[in-house]
Amino acid sequence: MNNQRGHVIVLTYPAQGHINPLLQFAKRLASKGLKVTLATTHYTVKSIHSATVGVEPISDGFDEAGFKQAPSLEAYLDSFKSVGSKTLAELISKFNDSASPVNCIVYDSLLPWALHVARQFGIYGAVFLTNSASVCSMYWHIHHGHLTLPVKQETEQLLLPGLPPLGISNLPGFLGQPAVASAYLTLILEKFGLLEENDWVFCNSFEELESELVKAMKGLWPLVMTGPTVPSAYLDQQINGDRTYGASLWELSSDQCLRWLETQPPKSVVYVSFGSMADITSQQAEEIAWGLIASNVHFLLVARNSGDKFPSSFLNSVQGRGLIVPWCNQLEVLAHPAVGCFVTHCGWNSTLEALSIGVPMVAFPQWSDQPTNAMFVEELWRVGVKAKKNKEGIVSRDELEMCIMEVMVGTKSEEIKENASKWRKLAIRAVSSGGSSDKNINEFVGKLMKERG
Ligand code: UDP
Repeated sequence: MNNQRGHVIVLTYPAQGHINPLLQFAKRLASKGLKVTLATTHYTVKSIHSATVGVEPISDGFDEAGFKQAPSLEAYLDSFKSVGSKTLAELISKFNDSASPVNCIVYDSLLPWALHVARQFGIYGAVFLTNSASVCSMYWHIHHGHLTLPVKQETEQLLLPGLPPLGISNLPGFLGQPAVASAYLTLILEKFGLLEENDWVFCNSFEELESELVKAMKGLWPLVMTGPTVPSAYLDQQINGDRTYGASLWELSSDQCLRWLETQPPKSVVYVSFGSMADITSQQAEEIAWGLIASNVHFLLVARNSGDKFPSSFLNSVQGRGLIVPWCNQLEVLAHPAVGCFVTHCGWNSTLEALSIGVPMVAFPQWSDQPTNAMFVEELWRVGVKAKKNKEGIVSRDELEMCIMEVMVGTKSEEIKENASKWRKLAIRAVSSGGSSDKNINEFVGKLMKERG
């Protein structure tokens, strides 16, 4: 006899900024009564733990060491597409022979071939966007030829439906110089060819945050805003709620960070992190180092890819002033009362996490969608300031010091703090019972349950 609940496979790309939102979305679906299985690669599956969501491996063709084993990004993605499609289909067949047949695949937008697998089985297919809906709409316009590449340097302002006027420096990094990042751009654009064919387009954002864009895309995409995918315990500070994001690809320095944060006064610490992928240069690391020292604040610095790039004279002088760790539990840090400012690369997860927890930002974008997110932080949501680069493409120590001071105590700081608190409340409301994202999730779950029942 069929299980009456409906069974969704949530498929994630094996990177930290993808596993976090997709696993959290999977947990939210499970909390609404669906059976949910998270599928990801053999290499990553061992880093993921959940009490409410099943976790199953599929293959990307590189089971020993994942992406690191592949000769190039293109080779990795080709292999993932062919071996992944086959092993995902085998996983579905296995479930279909059990009491819990699968009736929907929710797949990470980086893995668009999963929609073909859903169609092969005659089940629902839904894409999950891990960028903002605004950024995704830009890529979609490119895919549909409404915008041609490369966007010319002299283009002053680009006008697209539902978006504020965009200068070239505010566009996703790939668009001004597609030759530099062609593999990524191909990958990104490929996913927008199929967008309208999905039964749902889920986005890790919420309607209130991108209201004009949601209106502009109505009727064009089956867009459903379901975020933020931040565990509620961090949003409303419930001590007893589920505090696990669910997965970390690297060892956390949680105890060390929390012990150190406990010794700091409220809202005094600047948390600095550039996420899991951005790779800063030694010259930039040096400016960050002396900018932090000059601003005279206490800081927690995550230096995953860049530990060896900071000058040794800086590393020797931080004692008492700061803590440097290779990786941390970012949500725990952002939600800690001692943290008053986040210097962030503006990856979409980091941006949304800070906005939802109410931490003011110094936006320090590197590449990809980060420049656009940074502009929204400064100009649209007004929850931070953007650090400007000099002619050499570097944020100088003086600029960083000035931005940190502006956010912590400057003339704009009160307004920034008020806005941060306003967006935090709106984010909490969106995912609380009866809020916009919660209602959207309930509708989806209701449909799957009804058809199964
Ligand atoms: N993160 C973390 N510890 C760190 C830095 C980041 O747990 O020290 C998490 C962060 O909470 C976020 C993800 O890693 O969920 C990074 O995603 P984001 O989109 O911000 O950036 P990416 O790493 O994809 O560039």
